[in-house]
Amino acid sequence: MALSKQFIRDTLKQVDLPSGGDLVSSGALTWVAACDAIANLRVHLPGSPDARAMKNLAALIDTTLRAEAASANIPLDRLGVQFVNHAGDVIASFGDAPTQATTPPADPRSEDHGSGIPGVKHIIAVGAGKGGVGKSTVAVNLAVALARQGQSVGLLDGDIYGPSLPTLLGLDALEQTVLDGQLQPFLVHGVKAVTLGKMVDPDKPLIWRGPMAHGAFKQLYERTDWGELDTLVIDLPPGTGDVPLTMAQSLRLTGAVVVCTPQRVAQDDAVRAVGMFRQLGVEILGVVENMSYFVGDDGKTYDIFGRGGAEQMAQRLGLPFLGAIPINTALRANGDAGDPTRNFVPATAGGDALPGALEGLARNTQSQITLASIQQARSAPTLSIS
Ligand code: ADP
Repeated sequence: MALSKQFIRDTLKQVDLPSGGDLVSSGALTWVAACDAIANLRVHLPGSPDARAMKNLAALIDTTLRAEAASANIPLDRLGVQFVNHAGDVIASFGDAPTQATTPPADPRSEDHGSGIPGVKHIIAVGAGKGGVGKSTVAVNLAVALARQGQSVGLLDGDIYGPSLPTLLGLDALEQTVLDGQLQPFLVHGVKAVTLGKMVDPDKPLIWRGPMAHGAFKQLYERTDWGELDTLVIDLPPGTGDVPLTMAQSLRLTGAVVVCTPQRVAQDDAVRAVGMFRQLGVEILGVVENMSYFVGDDGKTYDIFGRGGAEQMAQRLGLPFLGAIPINTALRANGDAGDPTRNFVPATAGGDALPGALEGLARNTQSQITLASIQQARSAPTLSIS
């Protein structure tokens, strides 16, 4: 049997909290990720837990899980436990918990992390089965959220047929510059962004034949001066086609994020996007449910499209669920105005729900990036010379 979230949750019901109740039923276990023999957990304890209490609880979780896994013959190599505060910020980490901070190497551009772009550690793609589900909105806000959490982030508009980054990032008044034959990305909202939309007539349709699409996309990432990046987010065109194929053939992705709205018809398209990534050998980091619910001025939550539909789809496909983003007028207005930073400020984001959802999405995606890269490092072929 393989390690699963269900197994972890069932097992951790045995762990009692000093404040009463068990770790799972009390709701203290806020997040679980499991992949192969690697697990990461997040725990939120009420009040301000002291360092000793957290250390003891992390040790108890570790012993309990490892003992149960051993007796069920389930491999468990790495286990990380993070404690979070009420806002979801990590306040303590134990075991093999993912870390966020990175130190730039001395000569970043020469550093090859194996992603296919020198200086870039992780490449993640954001895809969707069809247009209009908020894929570009999610890609932009995920990139900005990761940058706000301390990452060095790039954003590549891979939607060469209908680039939307010029609008969503407010690039209209800015000029594309080229230095020594290299595109200089726009540094906006904390991210380095590149889009074909700044190099072509915005009113002309972009029609590419297969090989041209391949070349256009390749030149965009190859000829950009990215510098050192923790993560490059690629906003893919909707559906399946030449760009994902080129991307999977020429770059080594850490994984893909699939955006879906809750309705059944949207799920069907998302299932096809999942199938495409699987066929291309791209790991799927998880599913995001966009336009999940609506919080009215009366503070009540309205379920418009069938909240939870995309989450159930993720469960059915055995994929991690990365988070739900509400239908939010400010998100649309800030997108039209090219100012995603405002989505993270409650006063200009229609309250806390949107900033909280976007920050949670970035944290969960980051955890999945860490898990996927550990797994890929372990499965990468090694050469031994004797
Ligand atoms: P896609 O890239 O899938 O075609 P976009 O990200 O361009 O979709 O979004 C389409 C439209 O829907 C945009 O106007 C965007 O502002 C809006 N939108 C996306 N997600 C939301 C949301 N959660 N709440 C409100 N409007 C949204």
